[in-house]
Amino acid sequence: MQNLPRIYLTENLAVGKTFPLPPDRGHYLSRVMRTDKFLAFGNGEEFLAELKQETNKKTIHYSLLVVQLTGRPDPSGNMTLAFAPIKQARLEEMLNMATQLGVAALQPVITDRTDARNINWERIRKITTEAAEQSGRNSIPEIRPPVKFGEFVADAKNLVFADERFAHEKINVGANNYRAPTKSQILVGGSLPLQATIFIGPEGGFSSAEFAALDAAKAVGISLGKTILRAETAAAVAIALVTK
Ligand code: SAM
Repeated sequence: MQNLPRIYLTENLAVGKTFPLPPDRGHYLSRVMRTDKFLAFGNGEEFLAELKQETNKKTIHYSLLVVQLTGRPDPSGNMTLAFAPIKQARLEEMLNMATQLGVAALQPVITDRTDARNINWERIRKITTEAAEQSGRNSIPEIRPPVKFGEFVADAKNLVFADERFAHEKINVGANNYRAPTKSQILVGGSLPLQATIFIGPEGGFSSAEFAALDAAKAVGISLGKTILRAETAAAVAIALVTK
């Protein structure tokens, strides 16, 4: 079943049930992939399914029959990626990678230096769905509504943030009285609570007030090395570090 195309469906899939399939998905399976067998997934489960088609007055109506539960466990994790929205194309890249890396939820946070308006969330939903189909997940990440920084930090549990102060070598040297986390807090190769939220700052970085609030909330800052990474690179590296 490894090479079968995978399609995400919002319906409650169950063996023996038949569902209508949107024309673009039916067309993709029958004309592009040239198959009537595929994998349908959603809600953490994956099923073997068959494509059915009927032509009525020259219009093809596609449907699917759910044949069998594959029993393959959902490889996605429990992690939330919190991020300050950046420009559309780069945000798409960030959330595509986060989905491939198994993030369960995506939380936009409006920070002091967030400078991206008019995000096309519908397009992002399409891109993350395609990333889930391609990467073998049995679920798509939940996209949460944007929240303001203050609200987010007040409510967050097990908050870990990518802390660019490490790259500026401000560790223990005064700026905002910043003190380095202890070794056990730097988590590179360490373990985190399964439900961790990883927070990535905007293109302009976190403001001094935000660093102070993160420190006061005892959020754990992690280093991603001595170079300054773009936010989308930082997200992929941080997720990989924390999940390994
Ligand atoms: N303009 C900011 C500066 O010069 O400090 C850099 C912001 S960076 C483009 C965007 C975000 O990526 C940061 O807020 C931080 O969360 C993360 N980041 C980038 N490089 C990092 C590093 N070396 N260590 C930890 N976090 C990093």
